[in-house]
Amino acid sequence: MKPISEIFALIEQPKNIVITFHQKPDADAMGSGLGLYHFLLGFGHAVTVISPTNWPSFLSWMPGVKKVLDFEMQNDKANSVLKQAEWIFCLDFNVLNRAKKMEPVLASFKGTKILIDHHQQPQVDAFDYGISDDNKSSTAEMVYDFIVASGHSEKITNEVAECLYAGVMTDTGSFRFNSTSSSVHRMIADLKDKGLQHSQIHENLFDNFLEGRFRFFGNILLNRMEVFYEYNTALIAIPQADLIKFNVKTGDTEGLVNFPLSIKGIRLAAVIIDRGDERKSSFRSKEGFDVNAFARKYFNGGGHFNAAGGRNNESLEEVVQKFKIAIKENKTQLTS
Ligand code: 5GP
Ligand code: MN
Repeated sequence: MKPISEIFALIEQPKNIVITFHQKPDADAMGSGLGLYHFLLGFGHAVTVISPTNWPSFLSWMPGVKKVLDFEMQNDKANSVLKQAEWIFCLDFNVLNRAKKMEPVLASFKGTKILIDHHQQPQVDAFDYGISDDNKSSTAEMVYDFIVASGHSEKITNEVAECLYAGVMTDTGSFRFNSTSSSVHRMIADLKDKGLQHSQIHENLFDNFLEGRFRFFGNILLNRMEVFYEYNTALIAIPQADLIKFNVKTGDTEGLVNFPLSIKGIRLAAVIIDRGDERKSSFRSKEGFDVNAFARKYFNGGGHFNAAGGRNNESLEEVVQKFKIAIKENKTQLTS
C-alpha cells in the first residue's frame, strides 16, 4: 500500500469514484463517506457512495444520504456503478470481509483501491494507496486530515463539516475517549470557524429514537444482563425472539453495550445478539483490557483496543458459553 499523499496530484482530474465503508455503517462510516463524497463532488468527479448493507435511521438526516446505494437492496444498480468505477475509497474498515457481500467485488476490482481507516492490523496488501492509523479518533478525522494535506481546505463546505463532525463526535464518545487528541479539538475549532452549527447534529443523532427502543432497553437491562463481579465483567445476551418482540431495527442496539460498562468496577462489557444469520458481538473495555485481541482470539473479530466486535456461526448458547470460558482464561488481565 503506497502513501495516500501520492494520489494528491491526481485528485483534480475528473473520475468515476465509489466510496464504501463497513457493513451496517455507524455515524463514522457514513459521516466519513459522505464528507469525502461532498469534498470530491467539488472537483467535478462522478461520485457514488455504496453501503454494503442498510443503515440506521438515525443517520437519515445526513446531507447526501438519500443518494447512497444499498448494495443488498439495489444490487444491479450498485454493480453497474462499480463496473464503471476507476477509484474505490474504502473507509472505516481494515479487512475486506467487513464489506460483507461486497467483499468479492472489492477483492477482484481492477481499478485503484484506497484505504482510509483507524482500526488495528489492517489488510494493507489489499489496497493500492492508503493511510491506516489506529491512533486516530475516527475515520472522519482522517478524511479531514486528508483534505487539509491535499491543500484543498477551501472545499470544506457546510455539508462536509456536518458529516465529518458526526463521525468524530460519535467515535470519541462525544469527545470523552482517550483518542480525543488536541488535533481533534483543533479540527472541530476549524469546522466551527467555518460556520458549523454542531448542537443540531447531537439532537439529530441522539434525540430521534422511537419509544420502543427504550422499552426494549428496559426489558433487556432487567432480564438479559448478567454481571460477573469476580471477573469485572458484564454480559448482555439477546435472543432473536426479543428483537422480533420489540420490533428492533438496525441501529436500535447501538449504545446498549455502554450501560453495563458504566457499572462501577466493570472493565469488560459485552453484548451478544442473535441476529438469525449470525451471532454478532460487541465488546467495550476500560483499564487496559485489550478487546481487539479478545475479539480476534475468540469471536472472529477485531477492532480497537477498547472497542471491538465479532461474529460467530454457533448458537447463542454456545457463544455465551465460549464467552464464559474466555473470561475465565483472561481472569488475570481482567482483575489485576
Ligand atoms: P461495534 O461493537 O460498535 O459493532 O464495533 C466496535 C468496533 O469493532 C468497531 O470499530 C468495529 O469496526 C469493530 N468491529 C465490530 N465487529 C467486527 C467484526 O466482526 N470484525 C472486525 N474485524 N471488527 C469488528
Ligand atoms: Mn470508526
